[in-house]
Amino acid sequence: MGFFNKIRQFMAGRYGGDALNLFMLAVMLILYIVNLFVWNPVAHWIIFGVELALLVLVILRSLSRNINMRSLENRRFKKVFDPVKNWVKFQIKKFKDRKEFKYLKCPYCKAQLRVKNQKGSHGVRCPKCRGEFKVKI
Ligand SMILES: [Zn+2]
Repeated sequence: MGFFNKIRQFMAGRYGGDALNLFMLAVMLILYIVNLFVWNPVAHWIIFGVELALLVLVILRSLSRNINMRSLENRRFKKVFDPVKNWVKFQIKKFKDRKEFKYLKCPYCKAQLRVKNQKGSHGVRCPKCRGEFKVKI
């Protein structure tokens, strides 16, 4: 039996990886990098302890056989994390096309709209609620 088959057999019925585990690994990596610059020994050991705790958590969650509980944790995590992720993504997008487009909110339904960044006064129709309003750029 090959090595990968052995791993597959070992992981059968176990939870494995998910977004929460990936997030904890990312936090671990960030803490590791931050800790390279922390010279205070107490703070250094505390951060190291948190890193270790995260690592243990990731391993325990991956190997867990309580798949329902783990996916519930993951869903709870995503409920909090996804809006944050989407907000960051949106800010990046907004920044990237700041020259070409202006972002504004529909005054009626608060939908996020994007209009061409052309000087002047424009009539805008919200594609969501069909409300019309004027914008000055
Ligand atoms: Zn609208």
